[in-house]
Amino acid sequence: MMLDYNSLLLALGVSAACLAVTLMGSWLARRAETVLLTATIGLVLVVSGIFVYSAYVNTPDKWLGVANFVLFQAGFAAIWGAGHQFCTGRLSFVSIFLRALAAMAFSVPPMISGYDGLAFMAENLAIAFLLFATARQYWLARAEAPAPILGITGLYTLTAISFVLCSAVLISDGKLVLGKAPNNWAEDLSLAVCIAGMTGIGALSLALHQWRLAARHRLEAITDPLTGLLNRRALFDEYGTRPMGTTTAVIVFDIDHFKSVNDRFGHAAGDHVLKVFAAELLAHCRAGDTAARLGGEEFALVMKEIMPGRAELAAERIRRAFEAREIPVDGETLKCTVSVGVAPGRSNALDFDAMLSAADKALYAAKRGGRNRVELAGYLQAVPVEASRTAS
Ligand code: GH3
Ligand code: MG
Ligand code: MG
Repeated sequence: MMLDYNSLLLALGVSAACLAVTLMGSWLARRAETVLLTATIGLVLVVSGIFVYSAYVNTPDKWLGVANFVLFQAGFAAIWGAGHQFCTGRLSFVSIFLRALAAMAFSVPPMISGYDGLAFMAENLAIAFLLFATARQYWLARAEAPAPILGITGLYTLTAISFVLCSAVLISDGKLVLGKAPNNWAEDLSLAVCIAGMTGIGALSLALHQWRLAARHRLEAITDPLTGLLNRRALFDEYGTRPMGTTTAVIVFDIDHFKSVNDRFGHAAGDHVLKVFAAELLAHCRAGDTAARLGGEEFALVMKEIMPGRAELAAERIRRAFEAREIPVDGETLKCTVSVGVAPGRSNALDFDAMLSAADKALYAAKRGGRNRVELAGYLQAVPVEASRTAS
């Protein structure tokens, strides 16, 4: 080798420490992302283990060996925990602790009793198991972002294989007592793989994390936080500029006397009513329909591929279902109603804005007509645009 083993080991330790600092910085910027903290802790333990191992290479004292094993196995177990947390959203201290303990149970006792060769066979296998388990976590979550996740899975697997090789070489040599740190081609190979793997995994993990944050922000930007429906902006992004098809209907809803619900039962009860209505709306959505909260107590439903005459029936079903809902607030049951305006598809297509305001006009007619009712857009009776243009 061009560089001696110990210098490469220190280089690995320093670059892993840099990655730990980067992860720590990312976590400090967003404290809620505890997965970054878990990964940082894992990496700090591994880095400490690397420096202890470097000391062990120079002075093979058995307590240094034990400290190295404890740090490595706790560190790799925490890294598994970070992977598990990233992929499932749950942090399980118990699983991390049990994995670390199980790994140590195989390697620490032989080290203490002087069988350092046996101890290193076990330690390499234990680390390989933890790395395979980490790779598996990402493999299970590969659908989210296949390219970076498959890269991470591959690198963890490769690193795990390099530890299996280290163990295999020691086992085939069959020395239960070594008296020094293992030194063979597999150790050199594993070190090189660790340097490449850690750099690659570090970069890909950070990229994956950023990618997930960006996706979450995109989702938050189009979602109404109270009801989980799309917000007004999302609806306009989806339909804003396109002319609506002749079979697309736009329906708007406005809860009746909603202000008095707030006044009598409080804002929280009002919010609850909004959620109940949103759930009712969603329950009546077919595939391809879009439900959105336009703001306040106003909602919209865009129905595609709907037969003439069907949109008003759907609107009526929703109105009746909501009217029948008994909404519990503070031990009382509350009943609410909704007024609805329907703009059905028409042969000369309007754009979304025009259909929405047609539905809005119908909604006002429903309010004037006594509320808790469905009204159709007036343009059904109006002169078609083409005809009026030819006339003028
Ligand atoms: P109408 O039958 O004519 O529609 O009467 P209304 O009281 O429903 O009409 P108005 O539009 O005057 O009242 C809407 C109220 O909705 C006013 C506002 O305080 C309340 N509101 C708007 N957004 C929210 C919200 O997010 N939560 C709650 N609880 N109330 C809201
Ligand atoms: Mg209202
Ligand atoms: Mg209103």
